[in-house]
Amino acid sequence: MRKLSIMVAMVLAIALCASSALADKLQEVKDRGVLICGVKDAAVPFGFVDEDTKKLVGMDIDICKYIAKKLGVKAEFKPVTSATRIPMVAQGSIDLAAASMTHKIARDETIDFSITYFMDGQKLLVKKGSGIKSAADLKGKKVGTAKGSTSEQNILAAQPDCKVLSFEGYPQAFLALKQGKVKAVTTDSTLLLGLKNSAPNPDNWEIVGEFISAEPYGIGLPENESNFRDAVNVALMDLWRSGEYKKIYNKWFGPDTKYNLPLTWQMELWP
Ligand code: GLU
Repeated sequence: MRKLSIMVAMVLAIALCASSALADKLQEVKDRGVLICGVKDAAVPFGFVDEDTKKLVGMDIDICKYIAKKLGVKAEFKPVTSATRIPMVAQGSIDLAAASMTHKIARDETIDFSITYFMDGQKLLVKKGSGIKSAADLKGKKVGTAKGSTSEQNILAAQPDCKVLSFEGYPQAFLALKQGKVKAVTTDSTLLLGLKNSAPNPDNWEIVGEFISAEPYGIGLPENESNFRDAVNVALMDLWRSGEYKKIYNKWFGPDTKYNLPLTWQMELWP
């Protein structure tokens, strides 16, 4: 009897080891039936709360829904900020982050990234008639941006003599601009367009200067989960090939939107 129970215990232990070796993020998501997506909730037009419906909407939300559909699961959303998105992916409280996030080699030390799914670059948002035309004009001036963003570092590289004030998100940085506490807000041009054109008086503000950086967006994924990463990459390529990407893009950046921006790049498509 004792021998038998030892054997049963051994078989159970082996089965447990085998299943944990096999279990990966992709399987975990499929078993759960839900993809937990970290998205912005105050970054127009990537992830924000629609004033009328009170629902979370945006380009990143639509992309998450498409990936979830491809995986055969439902998408659920958790809000992230520029500072929290990487730790949340690393800790596993979200399965992925689709949050206006640039993939950078330095960031890849903590998490992994998908292929590029959006392209942008950094500019400045200023009060119309401020006289500020580029980063050179920010010498000795205060600039607002979001904590944990690439924008924080890029602006200092472009203008080492400015003072960067980092806020939780871009709406807070824009509020500081409206209150005259900073002379410019700096981040990716589309996010600046989102701030400007969803403001009550868009004509009071202008986006100025050349791009001071390249900001290719990737989906933040947990480190060393290659099945999951492959599935997300295949879903993104499928999104592009099927023509659905252009539909989503046009919904947020097309000529009939407040954030019109022509699509000038192509997704990397593996044959
Ligand atoms: N794309 C930049 C970044 O990943 C700025 C936008 C953001 O903060 O989400 O940091």
